[in-house]
Amino acid sequence: MQTVPFKASSSWFSPSTVSLVQANLLVGLFYLLFVILIALAFPAVSPVWPSAAVAMFAVLIGGWRWLLGIAIASWLGNDLFMAWSTEWALWITLGNVLGPLTGSLILHRFIPDTSLALESGRGVALFSIIAALSGAISATFGGFATIADIRPDLSFNDAFFSWIVGDFTAVLMLTPAFVLWWKDSRAPCQLLRGDSEMWLAATTLIIMTAILFFMPATSAASLIRTGTFLILLPLVWVALRFPQRSTFTLMSIIFALSVTGTWLEKGVISQLPEPYTRLQIILMAMSMVTLLVSAMSLERRRVLDALGASYNTLEERVTERTQQLRDNLKYLEMLLDNVPVPMVITRPDQSVVIYANLAASDYSGFSIARMVGSSSMSYFHHLEDFKALEQKLQEEGSLSSHEVALRHRDGHTLWALLSAVPSRYNDIPVMMFAFQDISPAKQRELDLEQLVSTDTLTHLATRRHFMQRGNEVLLTAERNGHTLALFILDIDHFKKINDTYGHPAGDLVLRRVAEAFRSSLRPGDLCGRLGGEEFGVILINTDHASAHNGAERLRQVINELHIQLDDGGHVNPSVSIGGVLLLPSGVAHTSSPNLDEAIAAADQALYRAKNTGRNRVVFAPPMVFKHSATHTVTPLEH
Ligand code: GH3
Ligand code: MG
Ligand code: MG
Repeated sequence: MQTVPFKASSSWFSPSTVSLVQANLLVGLFYLLFVILIALAFPAVSPVWPSAAVAMFAVLIGGWRWLLGIAIASWLGNDLFMAWSTEWALWITLGNVLGPLTGSLILHRFIPDTSLALESGRGVALFSIIAALSGAISATFGGFATIADIRPDLSFNDAFFSWIVGDFTAVLMLTPAFVLWWKDSRAPCQLLRGDSEMWLAATTLIIMTAILFFMPATSAASLIRTGTFLILLPLVWVALRFPQRSTFTLMSIIFALSVTGTWLEKGVISQLPEPYTRLQIILMAMSMVTLLVSAMSLERRRVLDALGASYNTLEERVTERTQQLRDNLKYLEMLLDNVPVPMVITRPDQSVVIYANLAASDYSGFSIARMVGSSSMSYFHHLEDFKALEQKLQEEGSLSSHEVALRHRDGHTLWALLSAVPSRYNDIPVMMFAFQDISPAKQRELDLEQLVSTDTLTHLATRRHFMQRGNEVLLTAERNGHTLALFILDIDHFKKINDTYGHPAGDLVLRRVAEAFRSSLRPGDLCGRLGGEEFGVILINTDHASAHNGAERLRQVINELHIQLDDGGHVNPSVSIGGVLLLPSGVAHTSSPNLDEAIAAADQALYRAKNTGRNRVVFAPPMVFKHSATHTVTPLEH
């Protein structure tokens, strides 16, 4: 049953705060008012019964608790103002209360909040059924009362029929308006909402009703009679376009107008036998159609509203999400801007920098504005490095600790360990790079390498570096089919120089000899200090004659050296040279040495040069060389 909080309140018209006593008083008085009105119009048996609409309203809104007022009003009204005896007035009252109560109990089973019954097609159908049932219960009591108390001439059926039509029509035509006025009493009284279309429909409806039911009851009226149903057109129009409260109010106005017109013996129906019953049957049909159309139109509007609302929610969510993404991006940029690690974002499809942080700008020496929009390739020292990086990224998707040599704005090399991960930025796929500066460590490594590969006294290659480069040179020459010449050069009687002029003088001689070698050789040729006062030279891409000439020239250059010493003395050094010609494989020869074997052969030739008087060049027989992957350091002391 509908539960209304019955709080004591001073307000009569607020449904949520009205007290139970106030509610019973209100519906009772309302009920009685209609009884008096009807008693004035129809002093004998009444063919219309608007009070039934009040009773139904009372149970729909307040449940059985509101029926006491109805019962008292019904008994008082029927006893005092109608022609019933007290006893039959009580029986009629019982019917008037039992009908709506049964109806509302049934309705409540299907629609727990009975006041919502008029808001759906199913609810309207149920409402019509319980209105008919309620009318039938009430009419059963009324029918018996009529034939027993005031009209014994009538049959029960006639009395029952007239009674049920009166109750049923009143409930259909008036209760909906009562229910909605009560429920929406706090909504502003906007019957027509200032809408010109609504004004037109409502005016049409009222004028048509007025014409039909207030025109003089002439033969013209009887001709128009069949057109009574035309009122249905503006009524449906109203039901489709108006809020339910306006529609139901107009319906009750039509009820009042048509009954009043007929009572005044005007209009299209007044001259027919049983005009009220005829009228009410028409109204019954019209009200059922209107209620149905109105409820279905409300349902449709609600679906549309819900759709609109969900569309708005969706739109809001999209806006929210977009804002969220924008915030995330801002947050990400703020984070990237402030991390002390150089970071760059590129579009992998175009290799273009689209973001660079402050640390990246500091690191590279380029401004952020210069970096954004530039090609990422331009920051690499070697194009091959860039291509290799792209290739590796394509294969592996991401990279970590990949060593690269980058270019600083002022041209110097920046060594970095690079990490790259694919990501999304501003909703496009990007590659995110972070750099770890390893320049100092790399410089130390290079210095160390230099230290290991360069002899500090002569600045020539160390033995280790000479062997390493020598092997590489051998490999290239073998591949290209070039001939090489290897010389081992040893300063003659160097011990004597040391002994005579001192160790520093010996060092000076070593430096001068080394300088002389360097300036006599071609850029591609190799020269290294193999030990003490012993040197190695490899002439690349040479031939028999050039090799012999080259060795002789070196011997002469040293022989012509005149080294001035600090103490005023001077030294004229000489070198003995052992040489060997290395021919590429394919040329028929007996042996096939690697670098160590070639050095050993040249060393033997040197030995012969020493033994045959020094300051001379001796060549070993030519060899077919074979590259050895591992170079072994063999002492060349003799
Ligand atoms: P030979 O004509 O037979 O080659 O006679 P040599 O005196 O040059 O022969 P030996 O190989 O016996 O002497 C080499 C000397 O070179 C011995 C060593 O003290 C000296 N020596 C080796 N390294 C250095 C160096 O870095 N500085 C100086 N001043 N002397 C060095
Ligand atoms: Mg020597
Ligand atoms: Mg020596």
